[in-house]
Amino acid sequence: MYVDVRRIYKFRMYRNDKRDGHLHQQINVAGLVWNHALALQRRYYRLTGKYIGLGRLKKHIAKLRMKTQRYAFWKDLGSQAVQDVLERLDKAYQRFFVKQSGLPRFKKVKKYRSFTLKQAGWKLLDSDDKRYGKIQIGKREYKFVQHRQINGVIKTVTVKRDSAGRLWLCFSVFEKLWIPEGVSAGEIGGFDFGLQTFLTDHTGHKYLSPEFFKQELHRVKTHNRAVSRKVKGSNNRRKAGWMLARTHIRVGDKRRDFHFQLAHDLCDKYDLLVFETLNMDAMKRLWGRKVSDLGFAQFVKIVEWVAFKRGKRVIFLDRWTPTTQICSNCGERQKLDLKQRIFACGHCGLVLDRDHNAAINIRAGASAHTARGEVRLPSDSIAVDGRSPRL
Ligand SMILES: [Zn+2]
Repeated sequence: MYVDVRRIYKFRMYRNDKRDGHLHQQINVAGLVWNHALALQRRYYRLTGKYIGLGRLKKHIAKLRMKTQRYAFWKDLGSQAVQDVLERLDKAYQRFFVKQSGLPRFKKVKKYRSFTLKQAGWKLLDSDDKRYGKIQIGKREYKFVQHRQINGVIKTVTVKRDSAGRLWLCFSVFEKLWIPEGVSAGEIGGFDFGLQTFLTDHTGHKYLSPEFFKQELHRVKTHNRAVSRKVKGSNNRRKAGWMLARTHIRVGDKRRDFHFQLAHDLCDKYDLLVFETLNMDAMKRLWGRKVSDLGFAQFVKIVEWVAFKRGKRVIFLDRWTPTTQICSNCGERQKLDLKQRIFACGHCGLVLDRDHNAAINIRAGASAHTARGEVRLPSDSIAVDGRSPRL
């Protein structure tokens, strides 16, 4: 069956120092517009106690951009991109109004990351070489590494720079994807997340996560030293900072590759995958900061996406199911503290690895949830392409 999805195609842009400068400049302008609009809104609130509203803000900024000498350089950035910045700010405020986040903040322009164009201000050009694509942004042409075909209808184009100062092109696309018709639950797999072992399945098989950060540790150290040797505020220091940032990005890339690989492996073996619903706050309390290093949340998104694409199903059990404390053999419940790696049932005498026991329970929990076991759409569009996870 065909399903409409929104997905993101991400490409690395060719390096071209002169033109890169123009793109960086446009991203900087986007940052300036953000800060300007935010300052305006704050002042307005101080004076009137009210919110300006998106429409009036857009009009005002457009006027500054077109009619004043002082802000004429904002025209470097396309008008749609300017509007997009204001829409982002509006969204941030709307989240703040319903108390989902704090007050929007001022941002360092150098650290501002992107601007987005909708239908106007850009154009894909024919490329005479298969290895790269060409795009016109404003008046200039740029090349990008087109390692795959874009399918579907392009809705927006975002130019991003990552923490290592590299430029990326992201196409947000509406696409009709062919999804295999619901593979009716044949093989069911239950999985338990763990700190030492990334995942344990109900057969007791453990899927270990390589320690990506450790692998790169020597590089991190070298680059850290390089940064601290350079004069503060100098160009050299900035460049050394980029090298350091690249190392951190590489760690993320490797982890992400591992997550995709694992997600595909699991979908090879099973038709229905059962997990516990992640409770990051509780996990952090229990396990400390290392949880974020493992990237469970990212893995969950990826496995949802991969399963969806392959017509497999994913179920997440209720958060409060005490899967670790129940004997998978007789159902007797007993307390287990964090250090106990073995589950030993006082009732039926079962002795089993703690995570293995939990995974069996999780798998069994699926039957109670099959009613809700429809194919879950990936909760929001995730970048399924490109390599850098954090931009
Ligand atoms: Zn038992």
